[in-house]
Amino acid sequence: MKQIYLDNASTTRMRPEVLEAMLPYFTEQYGNPSSIYPLGQEASDAVAEARAALAGCIGAQPREVFFTSGGSESDNWAIKGFARANAAKGRHIITSAVEHHAVLHTCAALEKEGFEVTYLPVDGDGLVSVEDFKAAIRPDTILASIMFANNEIGTIQPIAELAAAAHEAGVVFHTDAVQAFGHEYINVGEMGIDMLSASAHKLYGPKGMGLLYVRKGVKLLNLIDGGQQERGRRATTENVSGIVGFAKAAQLAEAEREAVHGSQLALRDHAIERILREIPHAKLNGSWESRLANNVNFSFEFIEGEGMLLQLATRGICVSSGSACTSGSLDPSHVLLAIGLPHEIAHGSLRMTLGRDTTLEDVDFAIDSLKTTLANLRSMSPLYEDFQKTGEGSIIAEMKAQGVPYVS
Ligand SMILES: *Cc1c(COP(=O)(O)O)cnc(C)c1O
Repeated sequence: MKQIYLDNASTTRMRPEVLEAMLPYFTEQYGNPSSIYPLGQEASDAVAEARAALAGCIGAQPREVFFTSGGSESDNWAIKGFARANAAKGRHIITSAVEHHAVLHTCAALEKEGFEVTYLPVDGDGLVSVEDFKAAIRPDTILASIMFANNEIGTIQPIAELAAAAHEAGVVFHTDAVQAFGHEYINVGEMGIDMLSASAHKLYGPKGMGLLYVRKGVKLLNLIDGGQQERGRRATTENVSGIVGFAKAAQLAEAEREAVHGSQLALRDHAIERILREIPHAKLNGSWESRLANNVNFSFEFIEGEGMLLQLATRGICVSSGSACTSGSLDPSHVLLAIGLPHEIAHGSLRMTLGRDTTLEDVDFAIDSLKTTLANLRSMSPLYEDFQKTGEGSIIAEMKAQGVPYVS
């Protein structure tokens, strides 16, 4: 059966060009970059070249880019490393309620170490308010961490404005840009970003490979002590093939960014418009205007996201649900709750994230299947039966009556 992969926010398929660039570093070019003979120096040169290429993608200096094992490690290092190094200046951190768990759980760990964390709320679109952000800054605030773009609902935050507000108060600004790197325009200088996390497998590169950009002068404690790799900031023999693959993926993404962005935007809007037109009792989650070009996230009333997921899977469609059942918890996603969705609606959520190879046919097939699946599931729902008899009990119908945008 043909697979239609619409879960690119979760991970992406590595590009053949990336694999090709990586292969020599598993075989002939197996040297350790710390060794002084040519085999080692060739590996060292490859790492340096990759670092320069990745730095160039975000307007950073090569020496400001540190390689890590992925987005999660970069988030941990930025936040824990900075907080622990700067605790004497203050112990307050600002973040948002919609961050990835790599940030939220890191902040929770720091709370156990005696740091205080403000989790800023977001509006119905998932946006952090710059005013709220400014108001949360205290004399003892040392760090703010606000994600560039959300992995569930795709909302893009006003990063430059938030960073400027942080700097006005002498607060260092970190952003988890894992969903944005290689997809959106990023320039750390122009945007005032002090630290930035990125991960290769979200842009058609290898898994287990990330980077942390740290502006010159920002002090961090190490998470991983040992050898002198990464200028003594992160030990472990370099993942040379992963580093080379990450750079290749980022260079390809950068070269094609605008074209891919444009075509994904058209497909995304086609999907959103079709769902709103053809499927009743649906609500678009997140902002339509300030949104990643590949993200479609909807709540559908009178069904469970998990049921929908399983039925779509039998048709070869790979999507993800907004409920956290897959992660072993019955609570709906913290992001969907933070944008104010009632539990019932949050449980019926579905995320489709398009990739660079996604076609109009793929999207249409997925939506046709979604329509059939929803009709099936709703026909078995006692709540839906009640609603059809009485015309009452629909939360989305109430939202529509109240003027909530993008509901059907
Ligand atoms: C995927 C993701 C991460 C984690 O990245 P890994 O490389 O898988 O550790 C962190 N933040 C966001 C926003 C993500 O989408």
